[in-house]
Amino acid sequence: MALMCIPICRCIADALAWTFCPNRGFSVSSLRRCLEERGSVDNSGNTPLLWLGFVPPKIEIFLWQLLKGGILVREVLFKIGWANLASIDCPLCTSKTESLNHLFFFHCDWSWKLWSEAMGWWDVRFYCNMNLHEWTEGWLGLCASKDNKRDWIVLFYAVRWTIWEFRNAMVFNGFSLSVRS
Ligand SMILES: [Zn+2]
Repeated sequence: MALMCIPICRCIADALAWTFCPNRGFSVSSLRRCLEERGSVDNSGNTPLLWLGFVPPKIEIFLWQLLKGGILVREVLFKIGWANLASIDCPLCTSKTESLNHLFFFHCDWSWKLWSEAMGWWDVRFYCNMNLHEWTEGWLGLCASKDNKRDWIVLFYAVRWTIWEFRNAMVFNGFSLSVRS
């Protein structure tokens, strides 16, 4: 039925075309828009900071997984019954359970020092007892200048990714922690 609506032209070779993008080239963002329009996307983990292309895709996916609760910190592993778990303590501060809110937010002393240092570069001093999602949603509101919005968003990703990379280096490669006071 749909093919009957397409005029056949002998002088143009057949080719694949992605009709959801103006230039007919495929892009993930156009696929997402298409799925959103059809109501096929779960937006529960969405935020204005996602899918902007300011950082490598794997780091955007990491944030998306984090907001969906899919990053396997020790508390998550414990809840799903991971058998080889010697401790559920945070490997950075060793004083609290390693939950997502703890590790990636202000609740971990080590993470808090990193956030403070990074925000200090921008002269932003801020503390509020919000959770992971509230902090993510509020991040853009802390940026004083629209001109720096992109860098501010990249900083957000960089801090969270650094926390996760260093945490993994400690857990899997025996790295130790040294923080300036
Ligand atoms: Zn901690």
